[in-house]
This record gives sequence, structure tokens and C-alpha cells, in this order.
Amino acid sequence: MSKIEFKAESKRLLEMMINSIYTHREVFLRELISNASDAIDKIYYKALTDESLTFNKDDYYIKVIPDKQNRLLKIIDTGIGMTKEELEQNLGTIAKSGSLAFKNETDLKDGFEIIGQFGVGFYSAFMVADVVTVKSKALGSDEAYKWESEGADGFTIEPCEKDTVGTEIILKIKENTEEENFDEYLDEYRLKTIIKKYSDFIRYPIKMDVTERRLKEGTDNEYETYTVEKVINSMVPIWRKNKNELTQEDYENFYSEKHYGFDKPIKYIHISIDGAVRYNAILYIPEKIPFDYYTKEFEKGLELYSNGVLIMSKCPDLLPDYFSFVKGLVDSEDLSLNISREMLQHDRQLKLIAKNINKKIKSELVNLLKNDREKYEKFYESFGRQLKYGVYSDFGMNKEVLQDLLLFYSSKEKKLVTLDEYVSRMPEDQKYIYYAAGESIERLEKLPQTELVAERGYEILYFTDEIDEFAIKMMMSYKDKEFKSVSSGDLGIEADENEKDIRSEEENKELFDFMKNILKDKVKDVRISKRLKTHPVCLSSEGQVSIEMEKVLSMMPN
Ligand code: ADP
Ligand code: MG
Repeated sequence: MSKIEFKAESKRLLEMMINSIYTHREVFLRELISNASDAIDKIYYKALTDESLTFNKDDYYIKVIPDKQNRLLKIIDTGIGMTKEELEQNLGTIAKSGSLAFKNETDLKDGFEIIGQFGVGFYSAFMVADVVTVKSKALGSDEAYKWESEGADGFTIEPCEKDTVGTEIILKIKENTEEENFDEYLDEYRLKTIIKKYSDFIRYPIKMDVTERRLKEGTDNEYETYTVEKVINSMVPIWRKNKNELTQEDYENFYSEKHYGFDKPIKYIHISIDGAVRYNAILYIPEKIPFDYYTKEFEKGLELYSNGVLIMSKCPDLLPDYFSFVKGLVDSEDLSLNISREMLQHDRQLKLIAKNINKKIKSELVNLLKNDREKYEKFYESFGRQLKYGVYSDFGMNKEVLQDLLLFYSSKEKKLVTLDEYVSRMPEDQKYIYYAAGESIERLEKLPQTELVAERGYEILYFTDEIDEFAIKMMMSYKDKEFKSVSSGDLGIEADENEKDIRSEEENKELFDFMKNILKDKVKDVRISKRLKTHPVCLSSEGQVSIEMEKVLSMMPN
């Protein structure tokens, strides 16, 4: 039997591929399982169009069998199988995808979710195996064939015994080296983890014989191990299910199953879009701040699936920084993936999805604010700072998105209020939105500078977060009302006729000169103030940077 050479520079390609395409070696299993799932999909499709075939869902499965002793890992499927020619064509030509051809020939419509398209995934098996053997029997054929290869130098094909239709892939797992561990691909627990991670939502059962422990019959402290065949994957992704079939509990369970957080999410958002880009998404707004949220270590991002197969664990492009607290996933069949299926080729679809999601999060937060203020305030306590930071860091560009989500403490209401609530209560003669910045509400309440504004019956927003004043400086105004610090030089309040100050700076020149002299360069000027009522003196500032902001700025590292 002569060896057939791989076609078209495939030797080099294969080596290149094996060593460079994939960043995580474990994805070989994802690739082989995806192929098995495609093979079953093909039978399913055939059965729909061919009356002589019936598709009984229970007969179709994928099975993963590790054999530690012989260092073998088998992946078996009951799919459509391959003829001799197909083995030669599909596994002998790199970048030839029988699945893509099938998709094109049959003009698959919605509901068919063939994964393969690049014709390289299969070869990822060589990342972990020295020898790859494929035994296959095609649907409608009496003969089975065995394809075998040790990698770069070609493959052999010969007839073999195989009773049932389908494919069996046998990997001879590499020996460990000093740097690399391959034993893990024979380890039951590790394999289960990899299957769960990448292939949890493959639509057919992925089975494994798993070892479990049970109490020995007739004893109450002796255990015995036994094996039992189990389905490892959950198969139907919750996000493909109909919203009204799902309960709040289902969503909450999924949140903790996915380890999105230890808390209960404040809100979940389930999106199914059938528009220009089709996608499903489940998003969560957590209640509590993740411990690393305000650190450099925190990575934002949503999980990204293509047709139920995990592509990226944290796709950062799906979330703007100001919504970086959102957890969840997006699954789309319309992504153009790159060859390793770890990244995206074009980001047009991704951008559309991101834009869409952004809008949805915003509107859900607005709803929450309107309909469940208490919950919203809980959320705001955790993530309000991030929203304000968002306004600040984008130079006010996101003002439109974020301004209605902000809350500040009100001097009048003695609670958090929105800017809209503030503005809608403003007396007609009030020109500005007044605020006072300081360390705490208690301190701000005693601030001399607030006296005149408060006496006029104007509401004052208390800024106790360092970012507050910076954020509103970027916003400049809300509904055409500018923000004004109660410490600024000109408060824009006309003095009442009877309040007109009788004293003048002229009369007190001597006193003021004396004060200026003592304070020297600590102050720019000493003036008569009309804003004080019960306090003798206060500080005020002119220009863009307030006294409070100066404090913050001087604390920042240069
Ligand atoms: P892709 O899945 O992107 O097409 P692969 O390199 O993973 O590329 O697989 C190449 C081709 O080999 C597939 O398109 C399919 O035609 C065939 N193939 C691979 N694995 C199987 C299998 N388990 N059953 C049937 N055909 C398979
Ligand atoms: Mg494939």
C-alpha cells in the first residue's frame, strides 16, 4: 500500500497550522466535536428531503472515550460518515471543507447550523496526537475505510471493519515533554471541562463514560466506584429558548452556572434579533461590584458564540467601558470568523451587534429607574461611578446615553434625584443647576457658600464622589441649563432690592488690604460677598477648576 502525498503545499501548511493558528491547544476537541455535529446535521438534513430515511433523534450522538493505558482518545459519531473518496478529498486537502460544499449545494436555510467552513479544524488534532486514525462508513455504503496519518508526510487509506454508519476518530495522544503536558487530554475530568467550555450547546448529546462513587450496598461507610454513561453537554442553549418558556429562576441559575457572579443579578435581558445581523443574547446587570471591578485586572467583555460554539470568552468590543459591568453572552450565526475561529474577520457585524446591545442596556436601565427605583439605586450604588466616569472620559460624547441615568443627592429632597427631576422642579427665575462639591453630605449641608442659593429656595445637588464635578464639567449643561458651583464667583442670582449691600468695598478698603496682606498668595482677592447669610466668610473660585477639583487633581500621580 503506497502513501498518498498531501496535496498543494500541504506539508508546509500543516506544520504552520499546527504550530500557529490556535492559541489554545484544547480547542482540538471543539473542532472534532463540531465536525461530528456537522456530520449528524447532514443526516438530519438528508432525512428531511429523502422519504426513505427517518431521523430518530435518540439514535444520534457523539461519544468521547479516553483510554489512558493505550494513550488513545476516541471521538465517535453516528453522523453521515465519509466514503473512500471523501476521506481522501476532505481529509487529504487542507482548506477543503466538505461541510462548506454541503452547505452551498443544499442551500441550507435557517435551522441548519453546520459549523465547518474552512477545512482546517480537523488538522488541529495533530496538536495533541502523533497519529490520527479515522474509520468511517458513509450513509448508504456497505464498506468502511480507515484513513491514517502521522502528520506532515501524508496519509494512508485502506478498507476496514465498521458495523455502523458514522465516523470514529482515534488520536494517539503525544507523550509528555518537559514543558508540555498531554496527559490531560486523557483525563476524564479535564475532557469534561473542555467539552462544557466549548461545546456545551452542540445540539446532539456528547456522551462519556464517567466514574462515580456510591455507597456499597449493605454498608454505610464503604464506597465503590462504577462507570455510567452520561451526557456532558446541555444541548439546548437557554438563549435559543422561547422567552416565555423561561422563568426568572432559569436565568438566575444560568448566571451562577456560568460563574458570572456570586450575587443574584439585578436584571437580566434576553434579546433575540432577526434583523440585518441575527443574534441572540442574554445579558445580566449584576447587583454587586466584582471584587476586582475598579482595578486594572478587570477585563470587560461578553462571551461570543457562533452557532452555539464558543469563539471568545471575553469579547471586549461588545461593551462600551461605561457598561463594562454587564455580564453575559452573544450568539450569532452571522459572524465572519477567521480561520482559527478564535477571532473575527470583519467587525461590521460585531459593531452592529454592539450598537444594538448598547441601546438595549440603556433602555433597560431607564426602565428600571422608572419602574423600580429601589433596585435602580442599588445598581447605582455599585456602578453609578462607572457611568459618571463614562461621561467624563469620553469628553461628554456619551452625554446623550448617560445623562438620564445619573443620580445625585439633593439638598431639598434629602435623597438621590435625577437631573430631569431637578430641572422639572426649578422655579422660573432659576438660571442654573446648582451643586456643591465636598467630602460628605453632612459637611456640604454646613457649607457657607450654599446659604444664598438655599435661601432662594433653589435645590442644590451634593457631589460627594470625586468624579462628580469632573463629569458634569464635561456635560456642560443638562436640558440647556448650565451647571453652577455654589462656590463660583458669580452665582447668577440678582440681589433683592432690600438686600442691596450698604457696605462698599471702598469703605472697608483698609480691612481688606490687611487681610490680603496676611493671606498673601494663598488667595487671589478678598471681596465683599452677598451670598453669606449667617457665616462671616467663605471661599470661592473663578474659572473652570473648582477648589474641590483642585484637591482631586493635586492628589493624582503625575
Ligand atoms: P471544516 O469543518 O471547516 O469543513 P475540517 O478540517 O474540520 O473543516 O473538516 C474537513 C472536512 O472533513 C469537513 O468539511 C467534512 O466534510 C469532513 N469531516 C471531518 N470530520 C468528519 C466527520 N466526523 N464526519 C463526516 N465528515 C467529516
Ligand atoms: Mg471542522
